[in-house]
Amino acid sequence: MSATSVFGMGINVLDVTLIIHTTLPLSNEQYVQEIGRVGYLGQGSKAIIFYSRGDIRTLLVIIGGGQEKKIMLMALYTDSIYECRQQLTYQSFQWFQWLYDPPILQCMICDNCLRREKDTPSIYDAQSEAVRMIRIVIWGLLYAVLIKA
Ligand SMILES: [Zn+2]
Repeated sequence: MSATSVFGMGINVLDVTLIIHTTLPLSNEQYVQEIGRVGYLGQGSKAIIFYSRGDIRTLLVIIGGGQEKKIMLMALYTDSIYECRQQLTYQSFQWFQWLYDPPILQCMICDNCLRREKDTPSIYDAQSEAVRMIRIVIWGLLYAVLIKA
């Protein structure tokens, strides 16, 4: 087990299987570079980010200076629950987009792709319930007005 804050400078350990971030990485580029240190030997590996909304605010205040878009893209990456993480990563690399047109397909192996397959999110049309609720409110208001009058 190793703990370091110098992944950007490289580490000389080949059997890294778990990387834990205790705050939001500054950008997707930095994050990909850091998690690229796992799985050198072909073994399964995981990357976990622990962060809070306060981390985003802190980074925006400390870093700022034109880096807001990178920080917000990283926050989008970490907050997503159904969007493919591989697609989100490629989308954040603007220099990479001209290489791949049409866009990258969903990877179907990241946690979000697996969650999407398991949950099968569906869209529920609640129009009739909404119309019924609006009618109830309107009739309630009319009734209140008529009772007062
Ligand atoms: Zn995916």
